[in-house]
Amino acid sequence: MNILIRNGWVADGTGNPLYPADVMIEDDRIVAVERLHNAQAARIIDADGKIVCPGFIDCHSHTDWTIHTNPTVQSTIRQGVTTEIVGNCGIGNAPASDLSREYVANRLREYCYEGPITWSTFAEYLDAISRMGTSCNLAWFVSHGAIRESVGIGGSTKSSDVTKEQMGAMKNHVREAMEAGALGLSTGLEYEPGRLASTEEIIGLAKVAGEYDGYYASHLRNYAESLQTAIEEFIEIVNLSGTRGEVSHLNVRYNTGAEEGAWQRAVETIEQARRDGLNIQTDCVGLEDGFGCLAAILPPWVRTGGPERTAKLLQDPKVRSNVRNECDRYWRFIHRGEWDRVHIMQSRQFPEIAGKNFFEIADLWKKDVWDCYFDILVAAGSGLDHLLALALVFTEEHVAEMVRHPLFSLEGDIPSSSLDGPLRDKLPYRPSYAGMIHFLTHHVKEKHTLRSARTQSFTKFVIFKTAQANLNGVVTHVLLVGRKS
Ligand SMILES: [Zn+2]
Repeated sequence: MNILIRNGWVADGTGNPLYPADVMIEDDRIVAVERLHNAQAARIIDADGKIVCPGFIDCHSHTDWTIHTNPTVQSTIRQGVTTEIVGNCGIGNAPASDLSREYVANRLREYCYEGPITWSTFAEYLDAISRMGTSCNLAWFVSHGAIRESVGIGGSTKSSDVTKEQMGAMKNHVREAMEAGALGLSTGLEYEPGRLASTEEIIGLAKVAGEYDGYYASHLRNYAESLQTAIEEFIEIVNLSGTRGEVSHLNVRYNTGAEEGAWQRAVETIEQARRDGLNIQTDCVGLEDGFGCLAAILPPWVRTGGPERTAKLLQDPKVRSNVRNECDRYWRFIHRGEWDRVHIMQSRQFPEIAGKNFFEIADLWKKDVWDCYFDILVAAGSGLDHLLALALVFTEEHVAEMVRHPLFSLEGDIPSSSLDGPLRDKLPYRPSYAGMIHFLTHHVKEKHTLRSARTQSFTKFVIFKTAQANLNGVVTHVLLVGRKS
């Protein structure tokens, strides 16, 4: 069947200026992009006054968390995103071993998947996903967290206590994933289990990805007072492991203790590393809201021994009073009492508090706000690391300076949701529905953040270049004759 899209302005995704043209598609291929005055087609779409452009790439998505309940990725595809890069921040669903299957199941249950975990290896997982079928293309990182969990050392073992055999088993998991087609390795070093991993452990694992020309993508160890040290650790890992690098969401949260100019210095350090020959890129969210792990503000001593032990310890009023004085980390504005910025995204134990901020929860429960926080963690027990919160973390000015910067590509950093089915009430938040498109509606159309908005704005969505991500030949994100539509 052929389709003709008439009278539109074409943004071809290569950085070319917009131009008026008709687009003819035959089966799954673009066969003409020019003025086609008398052409006919089985289906004609009038795009008068509209822009015709290729599908967008979300270069950092968490849609793998909801893909089993929402394979049609409604909230994402309706923003024009047709490829999502998933498995980010060190969090993922494969591999899954007898030691970690319950952990994986637990997290997927948070997003309403009650089915069995039928896969063990990364290859088996990708097979299961492609048998299920998804509306958009998914490209996958293998996550450090899933690998650690699958050898039984999850969030309770420091690198210094990891045995040679466990390290060898983790490397084998990275190798298996790379052979199955993973883009590379992702880590999340600001929370468990990545927080317990040394730079050497990460280099050891990333080297395996490097052997396959893979990527190392990381949620850094710190985005506040130690941002510069975290960037330097990232560069060291990329340099010594021979990978390409992607610094995940290089956004600095406001009122969390980052020095004046810390973001600019981090960006300059990346630019210098690029001049020195390292292939490093970065990305940013396009909204002021971001989500994070509720448990990540806890001090390390209460985290050793795993989530169940943490939940048990937090029942003790003495432990609570010590912990609340030592929570000055991660979202440091919580320690400063800005609980109104923090909205709980979901709690299986207390569905009535979803979407509320912590002062609202304290009002509802008639309790001290810190006790509400601890009670939620205690009730979550072994699922404590899966508790997420949404907060106003970035200023509008900071988001604008990032989306304007040529080094940054755009990301949603959120799972896809849907107005149908169980996710409607579970994940009704703005980042799922507008995380990507807000850039066009707000920064391009309303605020004119980009100087040459008409061309720059569309390349922004594909700046995580298709060739960079080894997506070339698999999916197309340019609108040119001969390419797949
Ligand atoms: Zn993320």
